[in-house]
Amino acid sequence: MNKEKLIKSIRNVPDFPIPGIQFKDETTLFKDADCLKELSDELYEMYKDKGITKVAGIESRGFIMGPILAARLGAGFIPIRKPGKLPAATLEESYNKEYGTDTIQMHKDAITEDDVVLLHDDLLATGGTMKAAIKLTKRFNPKEIYVNFIIELLDLKGRAIFDEEDNVEVVLAL
Ligand code: IMP
Repeated sequence: MNKEKLIKSIRNVPDFPIPGIQFKDETTLFKDADCLKELSDELYEMYKDKGITKVAGIESRGFIMGPILAARLGAGFIPIRKPGKLPAATLEESYNKEYGTDTIQMHKDAITEDDVVLLHDDLLATGGTMKAAIKLTKRFNPKEIYVNFIIELLDLKGRAIFDEEDNVEVVLAL
């Protein structure tokens, strides 16, 4: 994998969505055919031997590479969504954010005890969203859970809230 090329393809947008935030915009990576292929190849190499049966993507940027990776691994795809978006019965988990709380939901029948689940999101900032996704997924009692991000923002030290057993791996550390 040409990491430098992938990193260079990510656009930095200052002051989005609010002043002071340096937003990492991956749409510039996804629109480049070579970069998209390289990222998808790299993700496939990372997880091809893990026996993954379901890839669960977190709304909304986890819905881009999540299904691509699921199809390549021969696994199913599950959406993890904000409240009120999933049509059937759900399980949910709430977590604290900088200002207030947030909730994520999964369909009650999304995962079985036979599944090996890969949780995927585009970017690791504080890690709060993914930690809640792990907690929610554990309630389904799957065989194994793996966690993947495309990008880790090293300055925010979000990695610290995960345990060894969370099996966290990232493609690009910025
Ligand atoms: P965390 O829960 O603080 O780790 O926040 C991670 C979530 O925020 C992910 O779902 C990301 O999509 C989103 N996010 C935060 N900062 C950025 C950014 O700079 N670029 C893209 N997404 C971001």
